[in-house]
Amino acid sequence: MVHDYTASLVSRKEVAPNIFHISFKLQDDGNFVFAPGQYLLLKVKDQYRQFSISVYKESVRTFDLIIEYFENGLASEYLKHLKIGELSEFKGPAGIFVQHEVARSIIYLATGTGVAPILTMINSVVIKNRTHPMFLFWGLPTKKDVYLEDQLRNWSEKNQLFRYAICLSKEKSIITKPLYKGHIQDNIKDIIGNTMLSNCDVYICGGKDAVVGLKEYALDNRVDAQRLYFERFN
Ligand SMILES: Cc1cc2nc3c(=O)[nH]c(=O)nc-3n(C[C@H](O)[C@H](O)[C@H](O)COP(=O)(O)OP(=O)(O)OC[C@H]3O[C@@H](n4cnc5c(N)ncnc54)[C@H](O)[C@@H]3O)c2cc1C
Repeated sequence: MVHDYTASLVSRKEVAPNIFHISFKLQDDGNFVFAPGQYLLLKVKDQYRQFSISVYKESVRTFDLIIEYFENGLASEYLKHLKIGELSEFKGPAGIFVQHEVARSIIYLATGTGVAPILTMINSVVIKNRTHPMFLFWGLPTKKDVYLEDQLRNWSEKNQLFRYAICLSKEKSIITKPLYKGHIQDNIKDIIGNTMLSNCDVYICGGKDAVVGLKEYALDNRVDAQRLYFERFN
């Protein structure tokens, strides 16, 4: 159920060009119940913008967002200039792009900040799922746009069923695993083989064009439409 929340800015760090990792602390004592994958609605000048929760720490009641900054964007400018300790208003958590029960292998396909909701999904299953392989393919432009490497490595060390590949569509220099050149679609079959894709639950998140392209790719490769979950950021 959607509630109103007030939260104070705890930290903001530019983790890659125009990508900010932002942490908020909830001010109210009320219940904060969210399903991994859901988003919050940030109120800015009587308008709302959705931002997916990338981390929630119940013990300290903080949540993190990963924001791409767009020049002159309403929420982008608001979040870039918000001061530590200042309060913001949110509604939520909301959304139906959520982690389902793990019944088979999972493939997560994310581009850009579309990785944010997928992080809470992976976090919710990576420790308890000891049966089914989980694979994240994350599309970014170049090496300098990569962040979250420590988190992803840490998960893969804790559970060897979790693996990941970061696909860099515009990278020219020599790179090594887990970085790969090209789009997700250029690498996926080489990495996981032909058959795995059609037997998986597939979660897709990112910008409109990427999501449309990845959905089409998944369906062309015989992913069951009932097991295909997706969210578009624009
Ligand atoms: C369910 C959902 C979850 C989302 N989660 C996240 C998230 O976790 N992290 C995140 O960064 N964003 C997320 N978004 C997108 C976010 O809600 C905003 O749309 C985005 O941050 C831009 O808002 P703004 O107010 O800064 O820009 P606006 O004032 O809305 O737009 C200003 C200008 O910025 C440009 N612009 C805005 N969005 C895009 C875009 N996606 N691609 C290219 N140009 C654009 C356009 O030129 C536009 O005219 C999510 C969207 C949805 C629907």
